[in-house]
Amino acid sequence: MNNRIRILGVPVDMVNYDEALERFKEFLESEGVSLIVTPNSEIVVNAGKNPQLMEAIEQAEMVIPDGIGLVYASRILKHPLEERVTGIDFLGRGLKHLSETGKSVFLFGSKPGIAEKAGAKMEEAYPGLKIAGTRNGYFKPEEEEDILREINEAAPDLLCVALGSPKQELFVLKYKDRLKAKAAIGVGGSLDVWSGDLKRAPEFYRKHGLEWLYRFIQEPSRYKRMAALPLFMLKVVFSDKSQTECK
Ligand code: UDP
Repeated sequence: MNNRIRILGVPVDMVNYDEALERFKEFLESEGVSLIVTPNSEIVVNAGKNPQLMEAIEQAEMVIPDGIGLVYASRILKHPLEERVTGIDFLGRGLKHLSETGKSVFLFGSKPGIAEKAGAKMEEAYPGLKIAGTRNGYFKPEEEEDILREINEAAPDLLCVALGSPKQELFVLKYKDRLKAKAAIGVGGSLDVWSGDLKRAPEFYRKHGLEWLYRFIQEPSRYKRMAALPLFMLKVVFSDKSQTECK
């Protein structure tokens, strides 16, 4: 088991990209479905207010630090994370591994047509990758059983759930015992990026941990969500540091 710390009570694994990929490979060979969650500071704050989301993160086999805020927080807490491991970059590495080993991915979520477009781009980027199935992320509660059947008939190695947080985490937690996949990961807006419908921040912003600024410039209406970052940092500064080590 790798080191796990707690940031505002939320468990986070101290993994870099390579370690996260190694654990992913183990999940693919293990029994049952392993859950991978990719919290950023906004999700950590939300987990403090949403016990179900907190439970989903607690139950996850791997919690990846997807957010520069978590890296800063870990430094304040004197258990520095080596690097930020973004969900989208981790996904790329995971897909590469799947393509090299003849394994498959199911893309569930985003608006109609996006998962198919994203899947085609993924196959282009990683020849050999098997797209086991796709399904858009807009459904009524009574359709969930059908979705579950669709996923289980495809029996993918990896299930990508792009419903946004906390929907994606709660969906996976709800069906953990019934999902026929080796691993499941919540990927937020990653399929929109893969499909080409959403632009990722340019290299400069990414390198300097300024993705939040780029997103703000693109979508100023997200300003309320952006305010979560300074609030999160303040909370960390005033939090009980003795609770950082994870038992
Ligand atoms: N989404 C979905 N079903 C829903 C709500 C959202 O499939 O009921 C998709 C949405 O189309 C987008 C993704 O979830 O592709 C992530 O949305 P958002 O950018 O809000 O999530 P974030 O990653 O910023 O939390």
